[in-house]
Amino acid sequence: MFETSQFYQQALAQLDSVAEHVDLDINIIERLRYPKRSVIVSIPVRMDSGETKVFTGYRVQHSLTAGPGKGGLRFSPHVDFGEVAALAMLMTWKCSLVSLPFGGAKGGMNCDPTKLSPREKERATRRFTQEILPFIGPQIDVMAPDMGTGEQEMAWIYDTYSMHKGHSCPQIVTGKSAALYGTLGRREATGRGVVYCIEEAARIKEINLRESRVIVQGFGNVGSVAAQELHARGCRIVGVADASGHFLCPQGIDPRKLCEYAENNNRRIEGCAGLESVTKEEFFAADCEIAVPAALERQIDEKIANNLKCRILAEGANGPVTIEADKVINDKGIMVIPDIVCNAGGVIVSYFEWVQDIQMFFWTMEEVDSRLQQLIRRAFVGIHHFAERNNYSMRHSALVLGVRETAREKATRGLYP
Ligand code: NAD
Repeated sequence: MFETSQFYQQALAQLDSVAEHVDLDINIIERLRYPKRSVIVSIPVRMDSGETKVFTGYRVQHSLTAGPGKGGLRFSPHVDFGEVAALAMLMTWKCSLVSLPFGGAKGGMNCDPTKLSPREKERATRRFTQEILPFIGPQIDVMAPDMGTGEQEMAWIYDTYSMHKGHSCPQIVTGKSAALYGTLGRREATGRGVVYCIEEAARIKEINLRESRVIVQGFGNVGSVAAQELHARGCRIVGVADASGHFLCPQGIDPRKLCEYAENNNRRIEGCAGLESVTKEEFFAADCEIAVPAALERQIDEKIANNLKCRILAEGANGPVTIEADKVINDKGIMVIPDIVCNAGGVIVSYFEWVQDIQMFFWTMEEVDSRLQQLIRRAFVGIHHFAERNNYSMRHSALVLGVRETAREKATRGLYP
């Protein structure tokens, strides 16, 4: 069950901490403690070898109060019900925080995408879509890429759903390629949003980005874009990490070149010239101004937090810091840019894609980027002001604003019947 998951307990503890400090209706909080709907499916897949393997798929809709569910779909061997349920809850706060007309949802398939051939991945994605078909729709629940999925998986979902409906329905998923009714700027959106938040934080902390050293854990969609955008602003990337290991490069590395290297090395950065292999503990203890965890949840525990040297911790990943570590980080005076705003660029531009697909009217990159900046910078500044006014941490401030808005919507709509 999802309740026993550590990550779900972490998400619940965050909700409880808000309920403790803010005067909210306990009956509404009780409703918010549970996902509205959870679907678990078995996905039989014919492998290229001829054998059949069965994967487990999850789609959890935490809330559908503000609009359709919105949230990524991840393919990972570590995916479980609790993780997906926790991430769906975070998505609810995130959508409220940046004023999007969506509720929170998340999905996952328990498989290792690096071990599946393209044809196996296609069969698994299409079968998963078919299995959850009654529970998704442009006005019900709209998926997007997350760890281990990207434009190609979204295209398969779009095609499978459209084949069942009998007409083209691009608004069923976001994160499609621009050539297939996606939006310009979606692939870069999350990493760019991380960097817009870092710019705001650096202004407050009086840190000059041109003289800043940065470490980035995770070199996928979010981490690689954030590293390139920071490098373009003059930052020195002194540490990078992915599933192949953690590496330091005190002289700095050009993330564009590292991307090219990874592209030709099965998406792994290990072996690239200039990278010195270290442990995860040594990586996070590196001298730097900015740290960007952009890989998995629960990467920074109390011990790692004690050794952090950064002044800004920008949570590109969802839930990368444990509750115990969070306390240590606050005591050290590090400015945390909490996940629910830091990586909200992805869902913001997903919203833009959904709007464009519904209208069949498409925006320029400049329009997408300026609207993204407007929403994410406004959310960051709002969270910071609210934190200052109430003497809250940035995380607590973001959670209070997100939960409060969701609770307000629920209270106004009432409880059916
Ligand atoms: P991705 O699959 O593109 O990249 C994940 C990266 O993490 C890869 O480089 C992988 O090698 C690395 N990684 C995996 N295990 C690791 C480990 N044990 N140690 C170090 N690195 C490891 O995924 P992504 O889309 O970049 O997502 C990363 C995080 O950002 C996730 O927490 C995801 O939920 C969050 N996020 C993503 C988006 C988005 O738009 N893609 C939006 C919001 C939040």
